[in-house]
Amino acid sequence: MTPAVEHRDAAGGGTAAGTMRQPVTEADASRTVISTEEINNTITRPGSVKINVQGAFIVDPDTSTPAVGTATSSHGNGRGSPTHHETSDIRLPNHTAVVSHIAVDIGGSLIKLVYFSREVHSMEPGGRLNFQIFETDRIDDCVEFMKHLRDNQLALNGSKPGELCVMATGGGAYKFYDKIRDALGVDVLREDEMECLIIGLDFFITEIPREVFTYSETDPMHFVTPRERIYPYLLVNIGSGVSILKVDGPRSYQRVGGTSLGGGTLWGLLSLLTGAQNFDEMLEQAGHGDNANVDMLVGDIYGTDYGKIGLKSTTIASSFGKVFRKKSLAEAAAAAHKGQPNEKAGPIELGFTESDISRSLLYAVSNNIGQIAYLQSQIHNVSDIYFGGSFIRGHRQTMNTLSYGLKFWSKGEKQAYFLRHEGYLGAVGAFLKRQPKNWGRRNSLEGMEEMLELRKSGKVKEALAL
Ligand code: ADP
Repeated sequence: MTPAVEHRDAAGGGTAAGTMRQPVTEADASRTVISTEEINNTITRPGSVKINVQGAFIVDPDTSTPAVGTATSSHGNGRGSPTHHETSDIRLPNHTAVVSHIAVDIGGSLIKLVYFSREVHSMEPGGRLNFQIFETDRIDDCVEFMKHLRDNQLALNGSKPGELCVMATGGGAYKFYDKIRDALGVDVLREDEMECLIIGLDFFITEIPREVFTYSETDPMHFVTPRERIYPYLLVNIGSGVSILKVDGPRSYQRVGGTSLGGGTLWGLLSLLTGAQNFDEMLEQAGHGDNANVDMLVGDIYGTDYGKIGLKSTTIASSFGKVFRKKSLAEAAAAAHKGQPNEKAGPIELGFTESDISRSLLYAVSNNIGQIAYLQSQIHNVSDIYFGGSFIRGHRQTMNTLSYGLKFWSKGEKQAYFLRHEGYLGAVGAFLKRQPKNWGRRNSLEGMEEMLELRKSGKVKEALAL
């Protein structure tokens, strides 16, 4: 049986009960020893550009101030349609150096693109990280977009078009390597997909305030501040397929498992079973469907709950378990009706809708992933589980299923975390590769071990004084 998730509508609305900026830490202080001038001086070739992440924050659309208050609307979550610019950029107020690279994570379903732009019309220094997605089938659109970025390098970044470098990760970095390099006529550097995921996630956890949150029906977006020690944790990346990584340190990880029943499964099956034209339409339908019309629940079998083993009557016993019977009955009724004088031609009344199907399949895929994530976290004795990948897309039923399942099975001992830029871990990781040491609030990218050693030996202050 699936986890005992009680499938009710997730709570609507809700404000972001968030934490504000982080307190200044020793790591913050260490950052200040690196001046802007120093950054500029380190830029010798595109692949080694250093990004100053000090003071980075997520911006509200069309503003340059930190996003505050509610962040639960679909447009305020850093998500958008594949053809539209994603709105929640990340502002880097202290990055003044030229950035002449962009990053792409080319997956089986989607291409995630990250690039830096200066704010030419702003009086403020710095610039912002921009996020964009394309369906992988539309690689040509993406290449066109990258050409546009290349041609506008001077305005965007202050560098020459020929200096652009593409940091590429994901399977498509190999599959489309020649295509991108030939079309753009620039260097394309390929980076390991799993490593980029971890670098990106560490960056989001440790550097970006109001990025990571927990989900519950009563508090759908509760932002969390990073603990002193963020490791070990599990990353469950739900893309077309699912990869589960156990992470022990900044660059220390292993892929411990996965499943092929992931985002691509939902996307593919719902395209067969419903008339939805795109993924967002599928999620929209799932949002108002009732899975009880399709799924066989404990209550359908027992007539009540099965309290002895902790199963509520609303627990799903069998995903799609009612469909065969309902369909057979409807077909038999239609056949009996045939040829009768008052026969009305029309579709067979099945007793469930496309929305019910969408909701049911969303639960089936999410429950399955939640269960595997829980088991992996048990095997590896990890209690912090981060869920990434575009499948989540800030969708409430998805997050509720994953979060509730994990809590239920672990009896409250394990915690699911979500991210506002959940689909961009790999792309941001590729973008940030080759950071200098001791950058950022928590040195998420490199030098973490050294800093911990210094802390242990009480030499941090000494080091900062140098
Ligand atoms: P990959 O790197 O394998 O492409 P992603 O993390 O980009 O994986 O997630 C892809 C999955 O995200 C899809 O299989 C689908 O479930 C979901 N998804 C989210 N947004 C979209 C979209 N606009 N178009 C298609 N799929 C989407």
